[in-house]
Amino acid sequence: MSTTYIMLEIAIILARTLIELIFFAIGASVFSFLNVVIYRLPRHIQFSLGKSMCTSCGHSLAPNDLIPIVSWVRLKGKCRYCGEPISARYTIVESIGGVSAVVCTLVLGINIWALIAFLISGVVTVAAYILYDKVKNKES
Ligand SMILES: [Zn+2]
Repeated sequence: MSTTYIMLEIAIILARTLIELIFFAIGASVFSFLNVVIYRLPRHIQFSLGKSMCTSCGHSLAPNDLIPIVSWVRLKGKCRYCGEPISARYTIVESIGGVSAVVCTLVLGINIWALIAFLISGVVTVAAYILYDKVKNKES
């Protein structure tokens, strides 16, 4: 095997890894929005209205606080303004989105079917969390 061939192989693996990292970020961002849907849909609040805010103190969040997964980890799971813990659920949902995007594109390729599978995983996640909240609220 020539050195050029090995270099080419490494370049392809790096490019593919970079592409999957971008898909992870896109998936996490889409599911970050789905967190809003999970919270607002059962409460009949419009999705498009209002800025994101802390559910404890109501302080509106800066763009810096809204980076999926990264912000939560950097703030150690606590609100920057009131110090109240932020549910790990948001980060878990974002991680599911990132993993889903990577799995869909790896298994199905980068095409419309991967997009459809990813969207289905989003709908299932939203439905599962809303149902879970409903059951939990009935028990308490
Ligand atoms: Zn707060």
